[in-house]
Amino acid sequence: MKICWFDGARLGVVTGAEMRDVTGALAVLPPATYPAPPGDMLIEHLDRVRLEIQRLWRDAPIVEIGQAMLMSPVRNPSKIIAAPVNFPFHIQEAKSAPGVFKQYEGGIEEQGLFLKATSSLVGCGQGVRTRFPARQTHHEIELGVVIGKTGSDIPLDEALSYVAGYTIALDMTVRGGEDRSMRKSLDTYSVLGPWLVTADEVADPQVLDFELSVNGVLRQRSNTRHMIMGIAKLIAWASTFYTLLPGDVIMSGTSEGVGRVEPGDMMHCRIESIGSMTVQVR
Ligand code: MN
Repeated sequence: MKICWFDGARLGVVTGAEMRDVTGALAVLPPATYPAPPGDMLIEHLDRVRLEIQRLWRDAPIVEIGQAMLMSPVRNPSKIIAAPVNFPFHIQEAKSAPGVFKQYEGGIEEQGLFLKATSSLVGCGQGVRTRFPARQTHHEIELGVVIGKTGSDIPLDEALSYVAGYTIALDMTVRGGEDRSMRKSLDTYSVLGPWLVTADEVADPQVLDFELSVNGVLRQRSNTRHMIMGIAKLIAWASTFYTLLPGDVIMSGTSEGVGRVEPGDMMHCRIESIGSMTVQVR
């Protein structure tokens, strides 16, 4: 099932080229409390919501996808975890950038994962707003993995069973010398979209072609099989440091071909088995 949020707080389900408004399915969620428990309530109760979507679907109004403002398919992750240097050729290009060599010493196991602020998260319809025009903002297309249930010290062979679904992720980055968590946490610098594809529709997340073009010119093209640390290991390893909660997002690393974007640019992103999304840079 392909599930999205649109136009603020509307819930959508996408079948082929058609989207339907299934906001009514949210009625099965428990009432909101304060303080709210950490994590994303929809993802935590996804099985229940899916059943309700199936019940409502036939009578749900059709929405023109092109007219809808697509929001992040995960609204309240407790954390956005990201993998640096997880594709071999991207490491070479990162190391060749002037003045940043020290940040790229060692592989992913030495450098560790990093966290992006959840306030940086937007959907593809909202676009990226760059800051610091004198500095370079780069695109990084990544497979976004959405955690479905709470787990700590997750065994490697069970790790993929913790995945609720997959989405296209953009780990936008200001290049420079600051810590990654600062340079990658600007408002709008984490993009997810266009929807969450539930894990049952992705037989093997480790064989997916993906590509990103800017203004019609191909920049990045690779396949998730080239990841140095695969998705199961990323989940298991991350969970030895922090408890993973429903809705937590893992951005699994980018391939070679990252490059600058500037206001006015249009990024077109596609990942096999998920779909495609266009993201405007402002
Ligand atoms: Mn990245």
